[in-house]
Amino acid sequence: MSNQTSKRTLAFQANERNVFLHILTACNLSCRHCYINSAQHGSATLSAQTIADWLQLFYKDDVQTNVIFLGGEPTLHKDLPFAVKTARQLGYKSVTVDTNGFLHHEFIKKISPQEAVLSFSLDGPSPEINDLIRGEGVFSVCSKNLQRAVSAGFEVSVIYTVSSLNIDHLYLMPEILHNWGVSHFFIQVVGLRGKSAESGKEDGQCLQPTHSEWLTKIPPVAEKAAALGLHVIYPKVFLEQNEKFECAGTVSENYFVFPNGRVYLCPLCEDYPINNFQIENNVLIKNSGMREEQLFSLTISEGCVMNKLLQPGSIQYHQDGTPIHRISCCLLKQEI
Ligand code: SF4
Ligand code: SF4
Repeated sequence: MSNQTSKRTLAFQANERNVFLHILTACNLSCRHCYINSAQHGSATLSAQTIADWLQLFYKDDVQTNVIFLGGEPTLHKDLPFAVKTARQLGYKSVTVDTNGFLHHEFIKKISPQEAVLSFSLDGPSPEINDLIRGEGVFSVCSKNLQRAVSAGFEVSVIYTVSSLNIDHLYLMPEILHNWGVSHFFIQVVGLRGKSAESGKEDGQCLQPTHSEWLTKIPPVAEKAAALGLHVIYPKVFLEQNEKFECAGTVSENYFVFPNGRVYLCPLCEDYPINNFQIENNVLIKNSGMREEQLFSLTISEGCVMNKLLQPGSIQYHQDGTPIHRISCCLLKQEI
């Protein structure tokens, strides 16, 4: 069956902008790899008016504009239904809500399935694996609410963040997701940001899979899920010899917006005060001084410059000092 599926690298789209809008940083969970960093992202919750103003600020009607509502846990925000409806009214092409599955404030009763796609985070096929990472009791709540959303007619996707804690259990996911009626499966790789960067320092354990682990374990699971009819997206991570390196920060439009007004172009930069823009009085202002953008143009043989700076241990070298693999932009995806 796998030969009926086709794999392709999703090229960056110049005529598309993606707005990753964190409407608050609070969360009811405390996942091991949480990337929220309160020292950098603050603890603010956006008001309904500010959400509307910022949606207007990032909307462009001459390109396809997509919004992804994030937190913390965005369903903790009582005005999330208003945010979804406002984005629709403005003309956003797609609206996605990334949730940990708790669906607070009876969120799915307050919007219609046509208004947003729901993306649930699950990091294991069972409570034993998922709850080790995301907290006790989370698998049960998330999987029940996910199936409730499917029954209510929502398009549902699942994000599985792969780390050394759960990579060996990924192969069990396709059948489970297929049986639940999930349509999209996003496989992510854990980033060394936020809490995973800290825990890596503390216990010396590298949560990131190695090159050979990634290549032997991820594509076969993606193929299996696709053969069951799921639409699968996973990060490229390692470039082939003949593949061109491109930095999304220079060739596409992605805005990672935090409630303290920081706006990043690259998610790997989010732990540092090098955000390219700041929103002040609902105006997007380019920061002066050191900015992430200044790093994007550095050309290095390892590929992504931020990966080299932040995660040098992820790169392996030949004896002559040349890298064995170039690391792609973390936003470059493969699709099956
Ligand atoms: S990863 Fe998401 S769900 Fe988990 S603690 Fe962080 S914000 Fe909450
Ligand atoms: S991950 Fe690397 S290649 Fe991608 S936007 Fe950031 S710096 Fe550029």
